[in-house]
Amino acid sequence: MLVSATEMLKAAVAGKYAVGQFNINNLEWTKSILQTAQENNSPVILGVSEGAGKYMTGFKTVSAMVSAMTEDLGITVPVALHLDHGTYDGAYKCIDAGFSSIMFDGSHYPIDENIEKTRELVGVCHSKGISIEAEVGAIGGEEDGVVGGGEVADPDECKMIADLGIDFLAAGIGNIHGKYPENWQGLNFDVLAQIKEKIGDLPLVLHGGTGIPADMIKRAISLGVAKINVNTECQLYFQEATRKYIEEGKDLVGKGFDPRKLLAPGCEAIKTIVKEKMELFGSIGKA
Ligand SMILES: [Zn+2]
Repeated sequence: MLVSATEMLKAAVAGKYAVGQFNINNLEWTKSILQTAQENNSPVILGVSEGAGKYMTGFKTVSAMVSAMTEDLGITVPVALHLDHGTYDGAYKCIDAGFSSIMFDGSHYPIDENIEKTRELVGVCHSKGISIEAEVGAIGGEEDGVVGGGEVADPDECKMIADLGIDFLAAGIGNIHGKYPENWQGLNFDVLAQIKEKIGDLPLVLHGGTGIPADMIKRAISLGVAKINVNTECQLYFQEATRKYIEEGKDLVGKGFDPRKLLAPGCEAIKTIVKEKMELFGSIGKA
C-alpha cells in the first residue's frame, strides 16, 4: 500500500535523518529500489517526473504498476509515490491517478501566482490524504528541459509558501540538478540556516542529490533537510554496469541476450547505489 510522505518525513526531521527520493523510469528501476528499501528496512519515496510518466505511457500505468508491485513483492516498509516537479495540470492528473504525494513546482511563476496555485493544491491534496511539496526559487541545472543556475531561495518567500500548509518544502540553496560543474560553490549553509529559522520543523527537500559531497549532505540533514532527491546517480550506475556487460561480450554468450540477463547488472548497480544513499542519509532501519 502506498502512503503519503508526511509521516515519514516528520519522523526524519525528529530523528535527524533523511528519506531518499529515487526517481523511477521503468519496471526494473522500481523493483530495484523497492527491494533495496525492504532489505534495509528503510522508508522510501519513488519519484516520477512528468517526462518519466509520459515515457511509462501515463501516470495511471505508473500508479497501477507501483501499487501492484509493492503487493507482489510483499513490501512492508512505507512507500510514497511522488510526482517530481509537477506542473499544475500534471499535479491534478497524478491526484486522479492515485499518487500518494505530489510536488507542485510553481517556482517559475511570480511568487503571488505560486502562492495561489500552491494554496489551491494543498486543499485538494489534503482532502485526499496526499502529501504536497512546493518549491521556492529555481534550483540549478536541468530536469526535463527546465534550466536554472544554482539559485538560492529567499527565506521570506520560503516562509510565505510554508505557511500555506504544505508538507515539505524545496528551496534552492545552491544545489544543481544533474552533474555538478567543477567550479561549483557548494551548498549555501547560511541561507539554509535562515530558511530553517523561518519555517521551523517543516521538512526541507534537497534536490540535485547526485554529486554533493557526503559531509555537505550530513550537514544539510543536521540543518533540517529530511528528503533528498537522487536521480542522475542511478542512471550513471545503470549505464556503467550495462556498458561493462556488453563490452565484456556477455550478451554474446549463451542466452546473454535475454533482456532479463542483459538488464540484471544494471539493476544490481541501482541497488548498490540506493543502499549507499540510504546509509549516507541515515534512513536504514527507520521503516
Ligand atoms: Zn528536482
